[in-house]
Amino acid sequence: DAAREAYGARNPNSLAAFKKATNSLPGGGTRTTLITLPFPLFIESGAGATVTDLDGHKYTDFLSDFTSGIYGKSNEILRQAITTALASGMQFGAHTTHEARLADHLTSRFPSMDLVRFANSGTEANLLAITTALKHTKRTKVVVFSGGYHGSLLAHFHAGEPAGNNVPGALRVPFDFIIAPYNDVEGTKALVGPVANDVGVILVEPMLGAGGCIPADPAFLLGLRDYTKEIGAVLIFDEVQTSRLAPGGRQTLLGITPDMTTVGKFFGGGFAFGAFGGKEEIMSIFDVRRPDHVNHGGTFNNSPLTMVAGSTAIEQILTAERMADLNDRGDRLREKLNSAFGGAGAPFVATGLGSIIQIHCHLAKDDVLPALELLYFGMLERGFWLAQRGTLALNFEITDKDVDEFVEAAVESAAAVVKAS
Ligand code: PLP
Repeated sequence: DAAREAYGARNPNSLAAFKKATNSLPGGGTRTTLITLPFPLFIESGAGATVTDLDGHKYTDFLSDFTSGIYGKSNEILRQAITTALASGMQFGAHTTHEARLADHLTSRFPSMDLVRFANSGTEANLLAITTALKHTKRTKVVVFSGGYHGSLLAHFHAGEPAGNNVPGALRVPFDFIIAPYNDVEGTKALVGPVANDVGVILVEPMLGAGGCIPADPAFLLGLRDYTKEIGAVLIFDEVQTSRLAPGGRQTLLGITPDMTTVGKFFGGGFAFGAFGGKEEIMSIFDVRRPDHVNHGGTFNNSPLTMVAGSTAIEQILTAERMADLNDRGDRLREKLNSAFGGAGAPFVATGLGSIIQIHCHLAKDDVLPALELLYFGMLERGFWLAQRGTLALNFEITDKDVDEFVEAAVESAAAVVKAS
């Protein structure tokens, strides 16, 4: 309570903005993950690795917009590319060469993508990938995994079963989903086996992202690769988050090639983006030269600004070397956090891969949220931006010094939790 009170006193402008926002937005916002109680902080501006809130406090950004903000807040290469593109006009309702430029980059990076289509979010990419695969297989059932997150709309479709952190707030729209156990091939086969002839798709994250940064066991992904071949289903990797781990995503790190892949977030160079791609025999269904083709539109699917920003980012920023550096730094942060939490007897543990990290609290269930909230308030006071639920992601602007300072602040903030528990 004292921490909440101090937070309220420190942030009067954010509180006022929140109250005003509730007049026109249910609960004051439009992204559930961002709304924290008693009220969320409002950000006014950002530059480099820093964001500044409405009350003038500055934070080093260790959230990176849940992985999409990989470039930091003011990347000069992107700014120039976008400004130049802007000078040539905004939306044309026509093709530009930038569309195939971005598509070429994605198909050369991801072994599973012969052909690719664009959309405006990762959610949309997953919905389209699923429907494409069902059309291709002429089947009706979709396997997803407990704890999996493929976008907010999709979470409403496949909620209703145990686990997934998105379940309590789901609308529970009925759909033909089977929710299988993550990292458990035998358990998956046992569930799927009796209806295998109806299963058109197995959709899986190579690491559970929103579900707690739990990496897939390579043997699990390999097992799914073999099993989908055996039953004639399409295997889709949702690499919306894990495409950060290497130029061609986790599939290239593991040498496991699915039939289709979805990506999004930072591949739009800072703009709204999603893409789904796959084998030619699957994706050519969108080829209008085919009499039996399927339609797929979307006003902003080929937005020139997005196409230019995404292509420029891949060409000049998302190099193999820079991505490896970023992920090495993330590994160091995770290791340092875990040894610092361990040394301080703090009830936290960091999981994830490379630059994607989740801080978990291992107190009794009822104490987890208050402990994470206390940690969050402590980190804010010390000038670090992260999600209240403990989600972190690095961006290219974060330095080793920032990492060390973050760890120091985390240990200090965790001390309040140790004291309270
Ligand atoms: N898939 C994964 C693995 C994600 O983490 C997310 C978003 O966090 C999505 C899909 C949905 O992407 P978007 O928020 O762009 O719809």
